[in-house]
Amino acid sequence: MGVRSGILYLVSGPSGSGKSTLCRRLEAEGEAEFSVSCTTRPPREGEVNGRDYHFLDRDEFRQRVDAGEFLEHAVVHGNFYGTLRSEVVDRLSQGRDVVMDIDVQGAAQVRSIEDTAIQTALVDLFVMPPDERELEARLTGRGTDSKDVIALRLRNAIKEMAHWPDYSYRLISATREEDYSRFKALLVAERMRVSRLGES
Ligand code: 5GP
Repeated sequence: MGVRSGILYLVSGPSGSGKSTLCRRLEAEGEAEFSVSCTTRPPREGEVNGRDYHFLDRDEFRQRVDAGEFLEHAVVHGNFYGTLRSEVVDRLSQGRDVVMDIDVQGAAQVRSIEDTAIQTALVDLFVMPPDERELEARLTGRGTDSKDVIALRLRNAIKEMAHWPDYSYRLISATREEDYSRFKALLVAERMRVSRLGES
């Protein structure tokens, strides 16, 4: 039996939906490799360069855009974010699964890439809290951002939530355990997809 090609999980959802936790757990349990994005936003307390993000200044980010290093990039909450090709492309061709935490604009860009390997690999999932009240509670509860930042994130989150119909899968978040077990069910199913299996 041949080796199957890798799966590229795009996970989107508003801040506070729990998507980052899901992506990180997938990586921690060895189910997929996390694509470390570049960003121009400053690191939060506890974040490590190269592990959470590659933290770049704006000039550096632009240079790397011009050099064609990004698979996609977008402005989110006033900062640049982008996925390096080097985090994704080789892994997929080696049959390794990759998970990325990405906003709705970035996900739309990846969906429109005319590359059979990317399209065969792609699985997109939108994670959202059950309602706006729960979203607000989660954003406030994190305690890492200022009031203004929280207000901006809440406005953006409400706009972002309107995009769930663009995705193949939607997960309405409940407990961390439930969310993870539903995500795992998706993984198990996707690994059986015939289009990614080698012929002999
Ligand atoms: P945060 O600053 O809270 O870590 O992330 C803010 C938003 O940026 C989240 O919605 C996250 O999904 C998104 N994001 C993180 N990395 C990327 C990326 O590489 N590309 C795009 N388009 N969005 C990203």
